[in-house]
Amino acid sequence: MDIRWSAEAEAYRAKVREFLDANLPGDWQGLGALTTEEADEFVAKWRVTLSQNDLLAVSWPKEYGGGGLSPMEQVVVAEEFARVGVPTGGPNDIFSIAMIGNTLLNWGTEEQKQHFLPRILSGEDTWCQGYSEPNAGSDLGNLGCKAVADGDEWVITGQKIWTSYGHMADWIFVLARTDADAPKHKGITFLLVPMKQPGVEVRPIKMLSGESEFNEVFFDEARCPIGNVVGEVNGGWAVAMTLLGHERGASAAVLPLQFKIEIDRLLALAKETGKAADPLVRQKIAWCYSKVEIMRYLGLRTLTAWLNGGSTGAEASIAKLYWIEYHRVVTELGVDLLGMDAMVPSGRMPLSAFNPDELGAPNSSMSWTISFLCARAGTIYAGTSQIQRNIIGEMVLGLPKEPKSDAGPWSQRSQ
Ligand SMILES: Cc1cc2nc3c(=O)[nH]c(=O)nc-3n(C[C@H](O)[C@H](O)[C@H](O)COP(=O)(O)OP(=O)(O)OC[C@H]3O[C@@H](n4cnc5c(N)ncnc54)[C@H](O)[C@@H]3O)c2cc1C
Repeated sequence: MDIRWSAEAEAYRAKVREFLDANLPGDWQGLGALTTEEADEFVAKWRVTLSQNDLLAVSWPKEYGGGGLSPMEQVVVAEEFARVGVPTGGPNDIFSIAMIGNTLLNWGTEEQKQHFLPRILSGEDTWCQGYSEPNAGSDLGNLGCKAVADGDEWVITGQKIWTSYGHMADWIFVLARTDADAPKHKGITFLLVPMKQPGVEVRPIKMLSGESEFNEVFFDEARCPIGNVVGEVNGGWAVAMTLLGHERGASAAVLPLQFKIEIDRLLALAKETGKAADPLVRQKIAWCYSKVEIMRYLGLRTLTAWLNGGSTGAEASIAKLYWIEYHRVVTELGVDLLGMDAMVPSGRMPLSAFNPDELGAPNSSMSWTISFLCARAGTIYAGTSQIQRNIIGEMVLGLPKEPKSDAGPWSQRSQ
């Protein structure tokens, strides 16, 4: 593990700082210091500024409108942005740039890249992810939403669930069953489907927090052009598994910084609530602090592997399991400190509920309470904690693989 940055990286860091100084207001205190409305307005304008300065989609090649930055430069940008509390993109970019954009770069045809990538960067198209189904979450390969070729179109029928931002998106990338007689991972195709059409119905799901960010999506003979396949027909499983690979290094660097900011807020909360001298509270805060320090070193190990091209792929599971299980505990401590105030939360909603709230965010009881609820969801989305443990057990510890009882055709599986 290397914990120092090269002179080249430090020189690039100085350039990023110049950009930030030139483009942020003089009294900037972090996105969290803005009201929700101000923050929305700022992020929309900031995304345009990033695009104009080649700092949106920093890992994409320049020929597709990206930043064309090296892995080291990408990490420096992410770190410097986190340090001053500005986002690296807009709210849909996790789906549009990080997921489908990166996937198209790996697997898309030239025509698909030329058509879709500029529309993602301009914000013209927003995306959502159509993977999970009522009977296919952790066991995603069991999915049953089917697509049948009909002349120059695919006809899609079935249901997706937990589709985040599905109510706002223009497009959905869908995993669909195109050969029911093949083994379950071999008859799946990755399709690009427009949301705004008669065959697509979106039904919002109300969350524990009272918000409604995700949806059920029903396809009733919905259609997309026959050429909207990414990768091979029936080869969608390999495509589906490549999502999110590009940003692994940046998140390894940024997460510990964001969690450190949250610890500072936790300390302030302990003082505000008069509990900073309580020995049990002090012990728990010290535990949180040491977990974040370990997260920093884990991140550096991931970064070193990533920058040297030696990533195993299992680091993503280690990192996700570590930070999400930590976030459950630290937000619980926040709620404990609030005591009865957590029962009637007030103040501003967190700008970023699934991650630590933004730099500059007030210590509102609403922010801690919603973050506490959303931290539970974190142990489920993008692979549950149990599934991450399975991956780590098999890929890192070399434990025996889970028994597989579903090698035959998907259509003959036991229900
Ligand atoms: C906030 C949020 C946003 C989401 N957004 C999206 C989205 O935009 N698009 C999308 O497609 N999906 C999305 N999801 C769905 C998410 O990917 C699934 O919820 C997740 O994969 C788990 O699937 P499941 O809910 O069907 O649970 P199940 O797979 O039914 O699991 C139930 C329980 O059994 C455990 N379990 C299952 N299999 C095993 C095993 N082999 N070994 C040990 N334990 C096991 C699980 O860990 C879990 O505790 C989202 C989920 C959340 C919470």
